[in-house]
Amino acid sequence: MKLKAFHKLSYGLYLIASEYRDKKTGYIANTVFQVTSDPPQLAISCHKNNFSTRIILDSGAFSVSVLKKEVNMKIVGDFGFMSSTDINKFSGINYLKGQSGAPIVIDSSVAWFDCKVVKSIDMGTHFLIIGQVIDSDEISDDEPLTYQYYREKYKMYSPKNSPTYIEKSKLEAEIPMIPVQDIEPEHEHFFDGESYVCAICGFTYNPEEGDPSMGISPGTRFEDLPADYRCPICNASKEYFKKV
Ligand code: FE
Repeated sequence: MKLKAFHKLSYGLYLIASEYRDKKTGYIANTVFQVTSDPPQLAISCHKNNFSTRIILDSGAFSVSVLKKEVNMKIVGDFGFMSSTDINKFSGINYLKGQSGAPIVIDSSVAWFDCKVVKSIDMGTHFLIIGQVIDSDEISDDEPLTYQYYREKYKMYSPKNSPTYIEKSKLEAEIPMIPVQDIEPEHEHFFDGESYVCAICGFTYNPEEGDPSMGISPGTRFEDLPADYRCPICNASKEYFKKV
């Protein structure tokens, strides 16, 4: 596989900010996306080692400012490449106080969202954090910044803790494919077994529902039905059933 393919994914650039017990934090991220529209929810992906991640989870709140194309590079430098434990990123910066409690940076921004955390999902190195938008505003007609424009103009790449970080030496290399059997999905199976329909009467056997009228519990695959199973409607035997 070619890691360079990941650079073809389109992103914007955003300033994510939060505050807990008077400690403000903020960082630059490209991974912000809308999860649902009703209610409006946004997702962000935060490295477990980042100070901001702890502040976001402890406060249960964050803001997202959409950066404009001609962003002030001091904002990118301070928020993108410094830690809030070393400098006060907010000195000299214009920001609002969101209803969620998070500061909302308005300098170099075209829009903002104020979010309450509703869920966080442990993804190994990162937490996927979902926030419900409680307020938002558009503050400028300027064009928003895209990650591609930023990369090309400033020749700057994601820092190491970014979910989209790629080691430079690996960018052009051919990386071995990941064996498909190494991936164990953690989700519900919607079609665990297939439905079969009785060719005589049209009754459909759905493995998700089973056939309680015949004492077959939900989740029983058609293949696993007893040999003497009969259609509950017309009494046809198993061989009359066809896969849907
Ligand atoms: Fe039947």
